[in-house]
Amino acid sequence: MILIDSHCHLEYPEIMNNIDEIIARAKDVGVKKIITNGTTPYSNKIALDLAKKYDIVYCALGLYPPDAMRREIIESGLKEEDPNFSIDDEISFIQKKIKQNKKVLAIGEVGLDYVSPQTDKKEQKETFQKFIELSEKSKKPLIIHSRKAENDVVDMLECSTLKNPVMHCFSGKFKLVKRIQDNGWNFSIPTNIVRSQQFQKIVETTRLKQILTETDAPFLSPFKEKINEPSFITESINVISKIKRITPEEASNQIYMNFQRIFL
Ligand SMILES: [Zn+2]
Repeated sequence: MILIDSHCHLEYPEIMNNIDEIIARAKDVGVKKIITNGTTPYSNKIALDLAKKYDIVYCALGLYPPDAMRREIIESGLKEEDPNFSIDDEISFIQKKIKQNKKVLAIGEVGLDYVSPQTDKKEQKETFQKFIELSEKSKKPLIIHSRKAENDVVDMLECSTLKNPVMHCFSGKFKLVKRIQDNGWNFSIPTNIVRSQQFQKIVETTRLKQILTETDAPFLSPFKEKINEPSFITESINVISKIKRITPEEASNQIYMNFQRIFL
């Protein structure tokens, strides 16, 4: 089978400590391409290093919405050399890498996150708008995080000229799902589809052409007792092929073609 993991975070220690084995296991089951997503300046650098080191690893460079990023840095124990880094400097760095480095396939993970009640929505929207404009200019697709901010995300994207945004792990209401479907945008479906009715229903109602598979590893594992990794994409393919009443090969081939159309 030909499989893809369009969204994960290989820089987390749980994965980095066993990275060689994890990449080998992914290859064993047929994973051909992995996009590791940067969320901070530090993780963008690691993503570039991993893309250089492993043939099947590609990367997306981005910044989490400012609040979520601060939360992420504190909770995950990810190092950040300069916690007061400038967002604009990092965007310039990303812009440069997009031009120079063929393994940078997308801009992500970027978006809006209103989980924290005291969030500065204006600051978040300004940053997200800069990434939308970078995507318009560079023609690299956006991989989008939206948490408790799905409405604003869809509104902002509809005001852009983007044709191919990728909605990562979309948990918004079905009215918004419908708008995304009608706009012809893409859903990147995580491996917890094995138990998530939201993602099963998105797959059921969306054309297979608009679907990608992702693990979001180390998060959203299909197995409660195991840390997620790219080889677990097989679990999603099983569920997606059942919902669509096609063979796993047919599902994975179409999703691979979607990946090529969107990112290559
Ligand atoms: Zn993610």
